[in-house]
Amino acid sequence: MPTTENALTVIEPANERVLAEVAQTDASGAAEAIGRAVAAYPAWRAVEPRDRSLLLTRVSSLIEERLEDLAVLEARNAGKPIADARAEIGIAADTFRYYAGAPERLLGQTIPVPGGVDMTFREPLGAIGLITPWNFPLAIASWKIAPALAAGNTVVLKPAELTPLTALRLEEIVLEGGIPEGVFNVVVGPGRTVGEHLVTDPRVAKIAFTGSTAVGRRIGALAAESIKRVTLELGGKSASIIFADADLEAAAAAAPGAVFGNNGQDCCARSRILVERSAFDRFLALFGEATAKIRVGDPLDRESTMGPLISAAQRESVSSFLDGADVAYQGSAPSGPGFWFPPTILTPASTDDRAAREEIFGPIACVIPFEDEAEALRMANDTIYGLSGSIWTRDGARALRAARAMESGTLSINSNWSVRVQSPFGGFKQSGVGRELGPDALDYYTEVKNVYIAT
Ligand code: NAD
Repeated sequence: MPTTENALTVIEPANERVLAEVAQTDASGAAEAIGRAVAAYPAWRAVEPRDRSLLLTRVSSLIEERLEDLAVLEARNAGKPIADARAEIGIAADTFRYYAGAPERLLGQTIPVPGGVDMTFREPLGAIGLITPWNFPLAIASWKIAPALAAGNTVVLKPAELTPLTALRLEEIVLEGGIPEGVFNVVVGPGRTVGEHLVTDPRVAKIAFTGSTAVGRRIGALAAESIKRVTLELGGKSASIIFADADLEAAAAAAPGAVFGNNGQDCCARSRILVERSAFDRFLALFGEATAKIRVGDPLDRESTMGPLISAAQRESVSSFLDGADVAYQGSAPSGPGFWFPPTILTPASTDDRAAREEIFGPIACVIPFEDEAEALRMANDTIYGLSGSIWTRDGARALRAARAMESGTLSINSNWSVRVQSPFGGFKQSGVGRELGPDALDYYTEVKNVYIAT
């Protein structure tokens, strides 16, 4: 059991009770973990690709075997409905299985040049620092750990202080799967000390970060000192554009999941719903009806489709967006204990409204009318962010034209689905740098080496 000074108290957001006490560390603990990852690197990168592949497959299978335990832990710690938690642990298992196929496919090129043979190799970077948020704890960690290890790197992961529990379980699973000690290390502790040590320690070859744009900016600046590689997956304020010719019933039925899913604590939340003026009233009515079906309650109750927010601070921050707002609909939520907040629909006058500009990270949707395609695109792109978004229309040419014009990394047409293990995911503009998932992620965990041999 950790002592009082180094214990981190983990709270269950649905009832505000203590869920666990875990040992946390400071910068010196981060330095030790980096030392372990650095020491383990030469042997890990030398493991034959086929064997690395088998080890990652085993980790995937172990996650699946433990799926129910991990899902209950994630549901209680992050306050998410148990069905959602199960799906996320499934994504973590899928991510390990997907990248288990990578070690034997890290192909290089041969390049025609005069007087010899020129070729490229994809080399691992070394010991890598991973820093993750609390909204999808194990899933987002897996998107980084699996490709990093597949490429032959070793890893130190710092999970969010609010949700460290599934990462600690994963550390045990990885060892049980046969991956050698020191290859994957978890350090629990504050961002300012443990996180910043990972970013500034010269032995760390790269930082892969998911979190807020504010912290991402600081990490980018600190990493620049040592020209450390960084990938940043940051905030969003994504738009769903709904044209009058769309299947409005389908668009409205899908909208609550896209903005209230994970309680709105989702970087891909379509929190700005832009609707063509002639369809505005009808869409708003249908969206209200669909939202009324949401059941906010205990994450472990199978009837609940939405849980609490992550913390009291998050509830306070989300609540501030209701000051002076035009509320078109508000659902109900338990009164407490627990950090509850009901799904809420606002109809701000324009995209200049604070609720329509800033990332709320809570269950508040803004529905705003537009006149024509050009105005919809102007509104959608009028933001510092560019993570995801949707286009709803029956006109295929317009759908593709709009998708090409939207300044966003991850778009869907007649759907709100953003994240697939097989597809690249990431942001334009201040939503980030680099891509996760799909084959592209491997580019960010390897360095290209060119070798010329005179013949
Ligand atoms: P956060 O930025 O507050 O924290 C994220 C992580 O960074 C935590 O582990 C935290 O301890 C650490 N950290 C904080 N300060 C640090 C510092 N100075 N140096 C190093 N590490 C530090 O974010 P959050 O509140 O946990 O998560 C919510 C944010 O994450 C939202 O903005 C959301 O949009 C974003 N997010 C983005 C994606 C994406 O893929 N683009 C996915 C999920 C969440």
